[in-house]
Amino acid sequence: TPDGGGKTSLTVKVLIGMAAGLVLGVVFNMIDSAFINTHIVGGLFAMIGKMFVNALKMLVVPLVFFSLICGVTGIGDIRVLGRVGGRSLVLYIFTTGLAISIAILLALVVGPGVGFDMAGVDTSGIEGKDAPAVWDVFAAIVPTNPVAAFANGDMLQVIFYTVILGVAVLMLGGKSKPFIEACEYMNEVMMKVVTIVMAFAPIGVFCLICKTFTEQGIELFGPVLAYVLTLVAALFLHLFVTLMIILKVFSGLDPFTFMKKMRPAQIFAFSTASSNATIPVTLRSVTKRIGVDNSVASFCVPFGATINMDGTAIMQGVATVFLANVYGIDLGLGGYITVIAMAVLASIGTAGVPGVGLVMLTMVLGQVGLPIEGIALILGVDRLMDMIRTAVNITGDAVVSTIVGKQEGKIDMAVFNDPDAGVMDD
Ligand code: ASP
Repeated sequence: TPDGGGKTSLTVKVLIGMAAGLVLGVVFNMIDSAFINTHIVGGLFAMIGKMFVNALKMLVVPLVFFSLICGVTGIGDIRVLGRVGGRSLVLYIFTTGLAISIAILLALVVGPGVGFDMAGVDTSGIEGKDAPAVWDVFAAIVPTNPVAAFANGDMLQVIFYTVILGVAVLMLGGKSKPFIEACEYMNEVMMKVVTIVMAFAPIGVFCLICKTFTEQGIELFGPVLAYVLTLVAALFLHLFVTLMIILKVFSGLDPFTFMKKMRPAQIFAFSTASSNATIPVTLRSVTKRIGVDNSVASFCVPFGATINMDGTAIMQGVATVFLANVYGIDLGLGGYITVIAMAVLASIGTAGVPGVGLVMLTMVLGQVGLPIEGIALILGVDRLMDMIRTAVNITGDAVVSTIVGKQEGKIDMAVFNDPDAGVMDD
């Protein structure tokens, strides 16, 4: 709408969908009717929710491909490209390392799990995963078959291949003009497809949230309350304080404006619990709302969704301290340094999909010799924690993308300062 009055309506509608889903889910959970559980929520709502998440995932690979080709050819200089890659890599590792260090410190001070009795906790069916070898993590970045990489949505491989392709396109100079124009056109088309899928967001988010809360209810966190509170405190501390200080220090931009513009993406991350599925929304927020040029964002955002997981690393830190307390094991400084290194590495080597944090935790616990069965304790609350940490994860991605954009002079301050810029439903 031209007056701007109705412009925020889609975000508002999504928020309403989220609130309605939450309330109805909690009510359904209390009613506990077999019909509602299997047919309405487990059937219809689950179907719609799944369709919506599928539709988001459907956008990821083509969107990243075309926008990244445009990004690489838009930067146009291989040295600048290397600098953007290097800067974002260093910042991603730095923020993840900082996140988990603060989380461990906070958890050590609060001391959740001290004096807890494991007897009576059902630990059957919990299996550990071995930590990946460092070298394998890096070797896996190069695809043997680009078609397979695209088909599987393996983002690091997709990024690797697309960047090389983009560089080759650049090397061909003038000959590449028609191809670049076609990619620019396709990039615009994909952005429109995002808009189409987004139109279904309120109902999709409603179904996803309603399903989660019908299944979970408002968990009586009971014995793990201390864990949940410490974890949520650490996540919020990172989201609202650490990340915002980092943004301010490295880019000088206003954290409040930034946060406001990130809200839609955070809602999607919360609803889907998947950084990967949220890539289209994060990319859209970072370019159209925050004003970072596509040449930087098209690389940094999908790269971050794959290798940067601040929230997940925080969960590893708090969970390890919690379980060490439960089992009365003192990990010592060396143990915690191992946890930090492992969590950073695991966050690089695993994709941003729901529940991957738990898998990472089995690796971390195995590495420092804590019993994997302990995971049984936090399993019940993990879905909700996953939703919150995914919102933190993608905010971290956007902070780094914005910093790199600012440092490269690739940010449009008029867009950043315009509260109406790129609000959904344009
Ligand atoms: N769901 C998270 C993400 O996609 C990963 C995790 O912590 O499980 O970023």
